[in-house]
Amino acid sequence: MRASCLLAAALTTSLMGGAALAQTIYPINRAEILEGSRFDFKVEFPNAPTSTEVTVTVNGKPVAEIFGRPTSFVQSEEGQKHSALWLRGASLPAGRYVVEATQGASKATVNWEVFATNEPRKARNVILFIGDGMSVANRTAARLLSKGWEEGRYGGELAMDDMPSMALISTSGTDSVVTDSANAAHAFTTGHKSCVNALGVYCARNALTLDHPKVETIAELIKRRSGMAVGVVTNSEIEDATPASMVAHTRRRSDFNDIVRMFHDVKPDVIMGGGSPNFLPKSTPGSKRTDNEDFIARFKEAGYALATTKTEMNAAVAGGSRKLLGLYNTGNIDGAFDLRLARKGTVSRFPDQPDVVEQTKAAIEMLKGNQDGFFLMVESARIDKYSHSLDWERSVFDTIMLDNAVKVAKDFAGERNDTLIIVVPDHAHPISIVGTYDDALPGQQLRDKLGVYQQSLPPNYGPRDAEGYPTDVNTSRRLAIAYGTYPDTCDTGRPFMDGERVPAVKGPDGKANIANEKDCSGPLATRKVGNLPLNANSGVHSGDDVILTAMGPGAERFRGHKPNTYVFRVMAEALALGGQ
Ligand SMILES: [Zn+2]
Repeated sequence: MRASCLLAAALTTSLMGGAALAQTIYPINRAEILEGSRFDFKVEFPNAPTSTEVTVTVNGKPVAEIFGRPTSFVQSEEGQKHSALWLRGASLPAGRYVVEATQGASKATVNWEVFATNEPRKARNVILFIGDGMSVANRTAARLLSKGWEEGRYGGELAMDDMPSMALISTSGTDSVVTDSANAAHAFTTGHKSCVNALGVYCARNALTLDHPKVETIAELIKRRSGMAVGVVTNSEIEDATPASMVAHTRRRSDFNDIVRMFHDVKPDVIMGGGSPNFLPKSTPGSKRTDNEDFIARFKEAGYALATTKTEMNAAVAGGSRKLLGLYNTGNIDGAFDLRLARKGTVSRFPDQPDVVEQTKAAIEMLKGNQDGFFLMVESARIDKYSHSLDWERSVFDTIMLDNAVKVAKDFAGERNDTLIIVVPDHAHPISIVGTYDDALPGQQLRDKLGVYQQSLPPNYGPRDAEGYPTDVNTSRRLAIAYGTYPDTCDTGRPFMDGERVPAVKGPDGKANIANEKDCSGPLATRKVGNLPLNANSGVHSGDDVILTAMGPGAERFRGHKPNTYVFRVMAEALALGGQ
């Protein structure tokens, strides 16, 4: 009873706060802001009032007095039915702030905490590993596949699990319980909560995606305030949400061409991933740019070596390069399952791609010589992408790959005790281990082959290779992993050796998605009626909490349950990035 009353009260408050008729203040209520970090202050007033009809105060004083700079006021911003007060690039000393925006009888209030980093710098280096969409079942399955299982015990620990600090991280954004990778990574790299598809901005009423109120990213802060080197490593397109969160300010994560320019503006020392077409001028065949900017040339002019293959990457490292632009695929780099086992995807077109482990080794090698230390973000991106396509074997292979990259970082950190290593997913998927499919069980249907409880015997995968990947997963007893959301689809109960699973395709009306018939005719193939809206052709994220593990100076701050923005706070404090 009490809980539901509290919920009703919370809903009423948020509806009042978020309704179109109220003034809206950015940064939003309960923002936690690093002392001295930059943010755009904006207040939106409905019904397009004049400046004389409104008042804005911070701790009871005029805004210009608090920030030491004048504000600007735009009536009917962009011709819309609201007016806006702006102060771009603001910053504040540590303290508690109450912002009030008054318009006639209506008053909106938000509270901010501006936090200092009082202690001296604790970490020389920070390595942030993001397992995109990595859920608890990914970790368990990766441990089972790569370490083995016998009589209830695993044959060893994952490198990411064998860490002294752990916390439960919640991933929601301002607008929704279940979020996306842009908004989720933005929380790590800025410490602010925002909305789906947003990177480095609050979601205001601006029409243009690049005009929304910005907040500074950790890469920008580091480049502005320290001599540290910065690395961004992923196996997705480098413009994709998670790597982009290091440098980007846009309401729309698909602004790939702008994001390339933002990478060039911030200039992380090491940039590696796929997605080369957005770097090429539109006159070049295969380019995805709409202008004639040549960002390959511009990075080269800025002193970057260019690598398009693993061989070139290793040569750049051996040659002593400290700045590298590595673009190894026109799209995403292939995942571990295809690089090592199935040889599908784009492996034949790009036969010399580095995996995340090799990229991590190369990045650390290039960054570690920097006098003031380094910040490295490494993403294993396709854990998420393969979970969208309900292809759990590929998703789990990329979890093993992430773990091997974590091992590289732990080996580097060794006894140094000056490197904070954090491993964290940005959000979860509804994925669970439910048993094993066993061909020896009687019956003709896939469901007859599902061994649950005492029949969930360990899988008989082929022997593991030196990196812990099974050499054969298409065996007679296989892990059964279920996804909680799916379109109309057909289950085969077997790994997809001929290429990444395509669970559904567009139906005859060109709108609704239907099962991919390619998977519907095998001996055990089973039709499933989808539980997602018909416009979905793949699985979706879940709002479950995720598991963070960490080690090194500052890691002890992680325990219990924390919001995702807390990851930024711990990193900022470990590096003492605060200060006016
Ligand atoms: Zn996703």
